[in-house]
Amino acid sequence: MRDGERTASKGARAERSTRGITASRSRPTWSTPARLTGRIVRPGDRGYDAARAMFNLRFDVRPRLIAFCQTADDVGNAVRWARDNHAPIHVRSGRHAYEPLSIGEGIVIDVVDLDSVTIDPGNRLAVVGAGVALLPLYEALWRHGLTVPGGSCPTVGIAGLTLGGGYGLLSRRFGLTCDSLLAVEMIDARGDRIMATETRNPDLLWACRGGGGGSFGIVTSLTFRLHPIGAVSTYRLVWNLEDLASVLEAWQRWAPFTDDRLTSLLHLRSSPAAPVESIGLFTGSAAELTPLLAPLARAARARVVEIVDTTYIEATRRFAGVVPGEVRWRAHWHAAGRARFKNTSDFARRPLDAAGIETLRARLAAAPIPRAVIGLDAYGGAVNRIPEDATAFSHRGGTLYSLQYQMYWKSGSDERACVQWAVETRAAMAPFVSGEAYVNYPDLAIRDWQTAYFGSSFSRLVSVKTRFDPDDVFRHAQSVPPAPREERHPALPGREPLVKPAR
Ligand SMILES: Cc1cc2nc3c(=O)[nH]c(=O)nc-3n(C[C@H](O)[C@H](O)[C@H](O)COP(=O)(O)OP(=O)(O)OC[C@H]3O[C@@H](n4cnc5c(N)ncnc54)[C@H](O)[C@@H]3O)c2cc1C
Repeated sequence: MRDGERTASKGARAERSTRGITASRSRPTWSTPARLTGRIVRPGDRGYDAARAMFNLRFDVRPRLIAFCQTADDVGNAVRWARDNHAPIHVRSGRHAYEPLSIGEGIVIDVVDLDSVTIDPGNRLAVVGAGVALLPLYEALWRHGLTVPGGSCPTVGIAGLTLGGGYGLLSRRFGLTCDSLLAVEMIDARGDRIMATETRNPDLLWACRGGGGGSFGIVTSLTFRLHPIGAVSTYRLVWNLEDLASVLEAWQRWAPFTDDRLTSLLHLRSSPAAPVESIGLFTGSAAELTPLLAPLARAARARVVEIVDTTYIEATRRFAGVVPGEVRWRAHWHAAGRARFKNTSDFARRPLDAAGIETLRARLAAAPIPRAVIGLDAYGGAVNRIPEDATAFSHRGGTLYSLQYQMYWKSGSDERACVQWAVETRAAMAPFVSGEAYVNYPDLAIRDWQTAYFGSSFSRLVSVKTRFDPDDVFRHAQSVPPAPREERHPALPGREPLVKPAR
């Protein structure tokens, strides 16, 4: 062990005390001292700045150490090392967290190098390494005419996306990403490998279907049920700003209820280029899609109308903003899209009335710079057919759509006003929406995040946490806490290990 590795404990204690939860300081029980394995990057090492960079340029955090794990054993070693050294653990895959929840001043345990994809086309199953990003996954599955429904950003990590739910342009057809999740392999708080399936640690699998990342363990692989996919059609309609009210009114009464094969988004922008835009993906032909769009087309005369037959992978590349033939997109980190940003969310369970629509319009007009976007994602279909308590993702049932208030800026001098715009927009819309929030769009300004993210799932998530991580080893500013010690049930069952620890 190097000298520097022992010094982590001071910062660790300081950080751990900030949440007001009593974490056990008891030494873990393994006998041999933990040893870091994998690629270890420390301050001063070449590549440290690239290793600590996050997708959101708003964060400038300097971890004590970053462990890029090449195997599940590396992950286990890193967990044991961190516990031995009382170092806070930050779990990271795709680096796309909206807030600094996967980075901090302790040890970042990064699984991006766990990037294998094993496909069983006959049984429509895939075992996906936790470090795999979305577009490479879609490309690998497409070669077999299969897919898993997920988000549209090419570089988002499959692990973070799935653990929080995972919404995308196939959601109304096939459900959320977590709805196709069959099994998870993870490293637990003792550094042991465990498995969660419908029959083995089923509560943990339930929690991994929407309970959020960074709370229960470090996922090393995910097993998905796959869906056949081939030809699809897509649409794009653009209107002028003065059509906002009539288009939004028509969209919200149509998009959550239309044919399940169609998933539709509505974007409202403070920039003049495409101030009111709706896009969508339909798992049928353009000829079938066109009449389905009639209620939207009738709302106001669109200045752009595009309805095209295409393949699923071409549509996915286009929605991802990937330039055809560009092979270095990952190395550049989807560079064009990188910015400082502050996003926050809510859900609508009833249509916005005229006052709610006018509030949205006024908030766009109040944007301090013309880079505000309000994104509405239609729910219903396969997402809402799953009972709210069947997974930890609780925004189903009567949910009509999610709202995301997004602000992007480049100059540090705009930061204060831009962050304030996002936070104040969510507050201004409170009378008209449900007050929920999507855990994959985390916002540290939300005080009642436990209820907003998880609703009635929160208490069950606390039980799962208490069982699998009673000492709160995996924690960040909005992770699920274990039950206070005095409230714990003495006969709480233990977790089932995948393999007996070899210590
Ligand atoms: C540009 C952009 C586009 C997006 N588009 C969509 C979209 O279309 N649909 C959608 O649903 N969401 C979308 N998101 C949100 C996205 O789902 C979340 O940001 C997600 O948490 C990112 O996961 P990650 O692995 O990339 O990020 P990370 O920053 O690595 O991690 C995010 C969270 O997951 C935890 N975590 C990461 N890896 C693991 C692991 N192996 N085990 C346990 N916990 C882990 C982290 O601790 C952290 O709490 C988008 C985000 C961005 C920035």
